[in-house]
Amino acid sequence: MKCTILSVGTELLFGSILNTNTVYLSQQMNEMGIDVMYHMTVGDNPLRLKDMIRHAYVDCDMIITTGGLGPTQDDLTKEMIAEAFGEEIITFPEQLEILQNHFKRYDRPMTENNLKQANFPKNATVFPNPNGTAPGFALEKSGKLIVSMPGPPKEMVPMFEQQVRPFLENRSDGALFYKTLRVFELGESMLETRLLDLINSQTDPTLATYAKDHESTLRIASKRKTRAEAEAAVSEMLAKVRERIGPFIYSEEDEDLSRIVLRKLLQDGLSLSVAESCTGGAFSKAVTDVPGVSAVFDRGIVTYSNQAKMQELGVRAETLAQYGAVSSQVAEEMADGLYRASRSDLCLSITGIAGPDGGSAEKPVGLIYIGLRHRGEVRSYRYQLRNSNRRYIRSNAVMHMFLVLYKTLFRED
Ligand code: ATP
Repeated sequence: MKCTILSVGTELLFGSILNTNTVYLSQQMNEMGIDVMYHMTVGDNPLRLKDMIRHAYVDCDMIITTGGLGPTQDDLTKEMIAEAFGEEIITFPEQLEILQNHFKRYDRPMTENNLKQANFPKNATVFPNPNGTAPGFALEKSGKLIVSMPGPPKEMVPMFEQQVRPFLENRSDGALFYKTLRVFELGESMLETRLLDLINSQTDPTLATYAKDHESTLRIASKRKTRAEAEAAVSEMLAKVRERIGPFIYSEEDEDLSRIVLRKLLQDGLSLSVAESCTGGAFSKAVTDVPGVSAVFDRGIVTYSNQAKMQELGVRAETLAQYGAVSSQVAEEMADGLYRASRSDLCLSITGIAGPDGGSAEKPVGLIYIGLRHRGEVRSYRYQLRNSNRRYIRSNAVMHMFLVLYKTLFRED
């Protein structure tokens, strides 16, 4: 199936809002094995909207629209779809009742224009909207399908997940199964090079690589007659992929590195503390973003200045003077000092140059040292991160801190 994602809304053309619906729906379509051919955006203009629908069907059999389903004059998506499909618009009594109850429940008067939200093209399948007043719908005629959903993401996403996805899955012949692998320390191009023959020689399962911030993902997907067949095909391919890039795969279930690391700490009952310099607390934030970490996370302290490193962690003035704040020696003394204060099983530290200034030939921007005290031993790890910008370096540094923990917990037992 080939599809176009059509966003409706003048605000999108003004650049006042970011088109997150299209990003979300493209990912979902890809996961379902539906090819996205075009992204189209049109303002609240009925004629252009109708034109777009016509254009999209030239080489697609499905359109997904978001936006323009509201009660106001300029919300005309539904009417234009009905016109394009040659369908009349009628009131759906059960939708009218839902709408009236909604207004009663919130004790709000229902204005005349709201009535239009109970109207749909005659043969439409309606998707109720528990999070708002504009329901979505699907309409099919002569092999062309259109799915229309409201614009607000907090309404559109649950509608897609709970109603539209099952609707599309039921229509599709065969079963799709896929696995998304997360890969670290192997860029997208290197990943592709190592798998190129597999990627090129396969039509099913398909392999697709995607670059994300600081990591890559690999999706293995198969569409077969039954789910069992698709699963078997994916497992067979997964075994081949493991042979090529096994050590770089940290998740076969599309899970974040932080979650995997923290779950392992919880399972093993190990406590964690961190002393951060260049990341300024970003690692602690990432840790505490995960619910339930209070059982393992003891403390995160930001020791940004030399003085703070000396006072809070007992880093020696001579070490700072001799090697500089960004050095393996300081990273190790930070981890050691943190242990004296916290007695945590894993004491992690970081010091580095996030830029844009402060780099030198010897210590360029992007250089980081991560210290770790674990099982009575202190170690440090040196990474030279790509110097893109400060934000990127800092978030990449956080990712490397999780990587150090991951390797310690999973690879060195
Ligand atoms: P409503 O029932 O709220 O009137 P609607 O279907 O008429 O829904 P719009 O009026 O087109 O939707 O958009 C409402 C809001 O939804 C926009 O102001 C915007 O905040 C959000 N929105 C619309 N389209 C998108 C999009 N493509 N990506 C992200 N947000 C969007």
